[in-house]
Amino acid sequence: MACCGAEGIRRQTDGNRMKGQDEIVKKYTRVFAEIDLDAVVFNMESMKKNLAPQTRLVGVVKADGYGHGCVPVARAIDPYVEAYAVATAKEALQLRRHGIGKPVLVLGPVHKSHYRELAENEIMPVIFTLEQAKALSAAAVSLGKTAAFHLAVDTGMSRIGLDAEENGVCLATEICALPGICAEGIFTHFARADEADKTWTRAQLARFLHFIEELEIKGIKIPVKHCANSASIIDLPEANMDWARAGISTYGMYPSDEVEKGFVPLRPAMSLKSFVTYVKEIEAGRQVSYGGTFVAKTPMRIATIPVGYGDGYPRNLSGRGYVLIQGKRAPILGRVCMDQMMVDVTGISGVDADTVVTLIGKDNEDEIRVEDLAKWGKGFHYEIVCNIGKRVPRVYLRDKKIVGTKDYFGDTYPEF
Ligand SMILES: *Cc1c(COP(=O)(O)O)cnc(C)c1O
Repeated sequence: MACCGAEGIRRQTDGNRMKGQDEIVKKYTRVFAEIDLDAVVFNMESMKKNLAPQTRLVGVVKADGYGHGCVPVARAIDPYVEAYAVATAKEALQLRRHGIGKPVLVLGPVHKSHYRELAENEIMPVIFTLEQAKALSAAAVSLGKTAAFHLAVDTGMSRIGLDAEENGVCLATEICALPGICAEGIFTHFARADEADKTWTRAQLARFLHFIEELEIKGIKIPVKHCANSASIIDLPEANMDWARAGISTYGMYPSDEVEKGFVPLRPAMSLKSFVTYVKEIEAGRQVSYGGTFVAKTPMRIATIPVGYGDGYPRNLSGRGYVLIQGKRAPILGRVCMDQMMVDVTGISGVDADTVVTLIGKDNEDEIRVEDLAKWGKGFHYEIVCNIGKRVPRVYLRDKKIVGTKDYFGDTYPEF
């Protein structure tokens, strides 16, 4: 066995590889994110059970489905959602390109030059200024169509939306009188719904309800009202109006530790897996990684993992994070590099080149959650999943079978 080739090594260490996942393992040998679509479906079921029957879920699949891949997630949740929400025009158009036919709402402001294309594709922008409304109206009229939109109301987030005051009511009246456009929805966004103390959120909700009442007095009745995000879906039932926008919870994470987790059981959808590339013994006094921030106090056995911040793995886990190998926690030694990192496997037996490494997810009895990475590195769980990079292929599982993969290296440039 002294000089067997790569195939030999692979066969030799098959026992260390994930059972039943040979198909993935043959294709992806460095790192991949496994997206469990059954978990996504479980999360939708779980949220639905916690909502009043008249409240419809909206699948928030912005930022490529919080890094999970927007199209497969959108397809998986289709039976559970009334509509989809994204952040940009491009994201909305991507859903349409993949045949997603349900209403799509773009939550962030879109440049007016895109309104025509949105109207053509029946994608709803948010509107909250007269300029936006006039531009949408002009685009719709020129197409001979009615463009639906949602009116954004600022009740305390100070991000987008018209003022939830008297002047906002006047502006909304003016906007709704324009030709070719129709306010199909009205919404606001909570700034602090993930806190245990809901005082601020209840005040935002009261402002929103008051604003809607004022509009109705003026004769403006908007059919779809919504303000709930994941946090409100979990523990603020009075905020769940016609639509509830499920973001982070779709992917199996709680918005924060302060929400009533017991109300809505969730299962994390993303695992991040890799394979050891190299194992060696080092003597006491040896430095590990850039800057020599880790120095071995005793002889150790260390493993090199081919994942780094270039894959979106947070560099602030340098010397603070862990990975799972053979069901045991291996601490990260020194700095996380762009493409690699080193971990301590001194106390872990059966670690060779090709042994599976779990950076996020379960390995035997132990589990590392995205929230753990966030805690160790003083990061933010939403950001960690969004940042899992384009170098990391996504593998979609349903019923433990691969139903699709997403590789970000499929681009072509036929012109040069
Ligand atoms: C991102 C976003 C959501 C989803 O928030 P979660 O906390 O992930 O559920 C809902 N509404 C708006 C306006 C958003 O921007």
